[in-house]
Amino acid sequence: MVIHASNHDHGLADPVLLEKIDRLFACNVGDYIDLPQLVVVGDQSSGKSSVLEGLTRLAFPRDSGLCTRFATQIIFRRTQCESRTITASIIPDSSTDDTNASNLKRWKGKDVQSLDKGSFSVLMAEVHALMGVSRSKDDGFPMFSKHILRVEISGPNEDHLSVIDVPGIFRNATPGITTKEDKKLVRDMVQAYMRNPRSIMLIVVPANIDIATQEIVEMARELDPHGERTLGVLTKPDLVDKGAESKVMKLGWVIVRNLGQGELHGADVDRDAAEEQEHAKYPWNTVGCDNFGINALKIRLQEIVTTNARRAFPAVRSEISKELKARQVALRSLGPERKTTEQQMQYLLDIVASFQNLTAHALNANYSSADAFESHPNLRLATRIVNRDAKFSEDLSRWGHTFNFKKTSPLQIGWSDDNGEKQKSGMSQLQSRKLKDVLGIQEILPEASKVPYPLSHDICSWIEDEYRESRGFEIGTFNYVVLSILMKKQSLKWTSLANGYISDIITIVHEFIVKGLSQICTDRKVSESLLSFLMDKLLERYQNAIKHADFLLSVERLMIPMTQNHYLNDTLEKCRQERTKSILLKKAYDSPDGKVIRVDDLKHQQNMSNAEHTVQELRDILESYYKVARKRFVDNICTQAAAYFLVHGPKTPMTLLSPSLVSSLSREQLDEIAGEELTLRKKREKLIKEIDDLTMARKMLL
Ligand code: GDP
Ligand code: MG
Repeated sequence: MVIHASNHDHGLADPVLLEKIDRLFACNVGDYIDLPQLVVVGDQSSGKSSVLEGLTRLAFPRDSGLCTRFATQIIFRRTQCESRTITASIIPDSSTDDTNASNLKRWKGKDVQSLDKGSFSVLMAEVHALMGVSRSKDDGFPMFSKHILRVEISGPNEDHLSVIDVPGIFRNATPGITTKEDKKLVRDMVQAYMRNPRSIMLIVVPANIDIATQEIVEMARELDPHGERTLGVLTKPDLVDKGAESKVMKLGWVIVRNLGQGELHGADVDRDAAEEQEHAKYPWNTVGCDNFGINALKIRLQEIVTTNARRAFPAVRSEISKELKARQVALRSLGPERKTTEQQMQYLLDIVASFQNLTAHALNANYSSADAFESHPNLRLATRIVNRDAKFSEDLSRWGHTFNFKKTSPLQIGWSDDNGEKQKSGMSQLQSRKLKDVLGIQEILPEASKVPYPLSHDICSWIEDEYRESRGFEIGTFNYVVLSILMKKQSLKWTSLANGYISDIITIVHEFIVKGLSQICTDRKVSESLLSFLMDKLLERYQNAIKHADFLLSVERLMIPMTQNHYLNDTLEKCRQERTKSILLKKAYDSPDGKVIRVDDLKHQQNMSNAEHTVQELRDILESYYKVARKRFVDNICTQAAAYFLVHGPKTPMTLLSPSLVSSLSREQLDEIAGEELTLRKKREKLIKEIDDLTMARKMLL
């Protein structure tokens, strides 16, 4: 074994291992490596702090009266810097409330540049006060604290090691000083440190008492049955009764002689000299060098620390691999780098290509192509539009006309649909818009409105009124102007319904664009700035659709009624036949061949005034024409205002995201839209550096 050759001192770990840890620290992966951790445990006053002082040459507070009240963790780190730096801080216990915890965290030990006896005890006094532990009898403060004092010592000659001095366990509560709860608290705390598999337990037992009474030995044996991380130390060999020494020596533990209470106050007693003198005395001079003295302990420790650290390396390696992978994923999620104009342009070109791809899938209802369709139903463009089209057609047929063509009972709530099927809805008004407003486009959309249920009172009396107010000198016929007027009034609600429909389609399209972009751009800033850059152009295209819907409304409602559709005649014939039939039925009687009517009875049916006859004709023509026009209107709105202008046409809003848009951008615009924000750039640089470090560290550990 190579021994660290510094003046009078051995390091606590194997130099080869130290070098490896050094190199890992140089790769900045120190955080993933648990330093070997030494926990010194034993009864109160067994000599724990004295042993620690011997090992570290730090003046751990030793006091027979004032025992250790909280865990002190000392972290030694070897760094390249020239001089030794020492910092002290407090790690609050996890059960501490927030304000108290942040108070404790804020504390930094002052003047801890040298940890000699004087400054260490000043530091300790300060920490006692801060943690609120009792400093004198009857001050009412608790004896022990679960906070941890953490002292970090880094310098060119330090070991990579963490040492923890914990309060000593005790068997009996001392009335007025310690309570049963204190006893439990300390035991739990000590046991928690011992249980940690990376803790190396230094069990300190005074040689002058019966080891069989030391429960700490049993505790250690339970937690580490093979003794892989346990090291036994016997202190106070100078106090062993004459004759009892051989029993002590038989244990084979390392015997360490520290300074006694009295020697501490006496000036200039060197612990190493005192220990050497003790070793020279009979019977200790029969104990080998590997079993006596602080140096022997150091060598043993070095072995055990090294073996344990080696054992931990595979875990460190897998931890590093895990961290490496996480950072690679994080870096990938930032997308490609976008520093130069070319990079920015390429980045945007990729985005528009992905967006066009997404749009194509969305319009083909090819939803299995991307997971986004699963998690964001608003991206299912084709389906949302088709459903809204169907709803529009249904709404227009049920709610579009001002007057019902057939008489219905005034008490009836609801409507008769095309099949004559009675539907009760309880609704007396229909909301023309089905979707909620989305931010950014609501100002251009026509105002949402409600349409009333079609009127059920006699359509003929309304037609008659209109006819009487606009007829001319015609005989047996009527001016087409009358039909125009009737049509305009009968289709009054088309405007609301069409506006609601087109607003919904625009909303669907806009939601698709916003969601789609945010799905494609991993950097939210890019999707947002791209969207705000496009917004005016998008609004213009949305408005084109609204304008076209207006145009179609004027065509249907304000122009002379016109159609080449033969369904007009079909319906008209049906209307006339039905009316004749209903009159004739009144005179018909049953015969074996079905219903029959006398020829003489036929003439009675013509018994009405010219005006009456015209009104009937008007009603029939209006009904027939309205039906043709309504179907034409629904189709035109859906295929032109919606499909052509917003969904499938050559100039839909989605096509704005095109390569030619990207190439039209100036350098400044490119940078504004696609450039990386400073924080992102920093994040990327940090990730790249960390990945480099971790890759190097992983190689080193292989
Ligand atoms: P801790 O409570 O376990 O930290 O024990 P300390 O290190 O504070 O020691 C308790 C007391 O025992 C102190 O007064 C020490 O000076 C004394 N002590 C520790 N080790 C030895 C030893 O080897 N010989 C003698 N004579 N006294 C010792
Ligand atoms: Mg102590």
